[in-house]
Amino acid sequence: MPIIYVDGIKSLQEQEMTKYSPFLSKSLYIKGLQCHKALWLHKNRPELKDEVSTAQQVVFDAGTDVGILAQHLFPGGVEVPYDGLTTAQQVTMTRRLIAEGVETIYEAAFNFDNLFCKVDILHKGVDGWELYEVKNSTDRKDVYVNDIAIQYHIVTGSEIPVSSACLVHINNQYVRHGDIDVQQLFTILDITDEIIDKQAELQKNIAAMRGMLQGEMPAIDIGPHCSDPYECSFSGHCWSHIPSPSVFDFADLGKPDGFALYKQGIVKMEDVSRETLGWRQQMQLDGYLHQKNVVDVAAIKEFLDSLWYPLAFLDFETTCLMAVPLFEGTRPFQPVPFQFSLHMRNSSDAPVQHREFLAPAVGDPQEPFLHALLDALPENACILSWNKGFEGKILRMLAERFSMHGERLQHHIDNLVDLMTPFRSKQIYHWQFNGSYSIKAVLPALVPELSYEALAISDGGTAADAWLQMRASSDPDEQKKIGGDLLEYCHLDTLAMVRILDELNKFCG
Ligand code: SF4
Repeated sequence: MPIIYVDGIKSLQEQEMTKYSPFLSKSLYIKGLQCHKALWLHKNRPELKDEVSTAQQVVFDAGTDVGILAQHLFPGGVEVPYDGLTTAQQVTMTRRLIAEGVETIYEAAFNFDNLFCKVDILHKGVDGWELYEVKNSTDRKDVYVNDIAIQYHIVTGSEIPVSSACLVHINNQYVRHGDIDVQQLFTILDITDEIIDKQAELQKNIAAMRGMLQGEMPAIDIGPHCSDPYECSFSGHCWSHIPSPSVFDFADLGKPDGFALYKQGIVKMEDVSRETLGWRQQMQLDGYLHQKNVVDVAAIKEFLDSLWYPLAFLDFETTCLMAVPLFEGTRPFQPVPFQFSLHMRNSSDAPVQHREFLAPAVGDPQEPFLHALLDALPENACILSWNKGFEGKILRMLAERFSMHGERLQHHIDNLVDLMTPFRSKQIYHWQFNGSYSIKAVLPALVPELSYEALAISDGGTAADAWLQMRASSDPDEQKKIGGDLLEYCHLDTLAMVRILDELNKFCG
């Protein structure tokens, strides 16, 4: 058969090769390692993918930001852009840059054996080309090793000798002082030997994936791999047969876990044998089947007797966990408080008062937050929060950062009481909690007239994103709207605690 070479069109030989060697990018290879079915669906039924959630988009964007910042480790390089170039053009541009003697290339593109990858940073060191993969994480993970292993395979297959293959991750000990110090922010881990050791296994994996892609959809059932190492984008499709509630809805199930039960054909919650469950799960099952509630009046009374006036109901909102610390004195992935709501009651029959704080859209929120909090909190208040470990952690961080207020903050930390305790320990359990003790589950069951549902912001993650959005906006109307939504949300968090405590008091007469 003659081989016809036409510029821009694959030769027959290439077409034949492609037929038996389906195209795989680096990310498709990683997807296939997690689950062959996910790779098959991506190639053949992409319309079945779940929509990308806002939270996932934030993770993707954060990864991109960190990648750009890491380029400063090797300044003066040339970037091979994604936008406006086909993958073939990106590969051609990379080749040209190498031929021209460019020593640092960002997003270098390679294609070998119908495999494609982009290398975050390719740098020519004294011993040869060094390959750097940047991750928005504080440590090494197996999935990163696989990610770098396929890059190594493609780059060396493209006849570019690689002297080292490195993972660039975030140094969680870094503390920001002034401008970001990229040399301190990142840790470079040379994993060349591990990458070379992976090559034989990698080639077998590629062959297995390509063989699989030429057949029907593989019969792979749901399992722990659906969310490990990443949340699969076909979960909505593959999990559609799971009823609600199911064995996967038991809280803190332990062994046998939901997947073990599912494998035995036990899927609905009511199909589980009650005797095989722990007492907490039995409580959840009884609640679901018989709308049974539990109230241990003596234990709740003991909890209530441990409280004192003035009572302060306190809740913080903090930034999302960002790899690159935004503010002075903070570490990677450190939550930074920007808002609080405080309801207070000075005696059992005194009216409830409210104080609140939302950091302005510019500047470091930490100091204004601290001063507003110290001003609002009564000196010897019993401070109720929901999951006090979180509020305590933020107060300890502030005490470390602003040591002159350390003693006062420690005093407040000592006075923290967790309103979640009677719920976590199941001294009170309402069937509508569905095994949960989060305030979002408890509030609608005990105080149905209060609800997060109508709010524009209804969870902490959305609040964190909204605050960043407010800072990024130059539209005063948008800033005002977001600010109002944030205040409304945080206010409800502490009002909810006030009303839940009222309900606990009612149980004890
Ligand atoms: S949801 Fe689970 S079984 Fe379905 S494709 Fe994804 S990983 Fe595979």
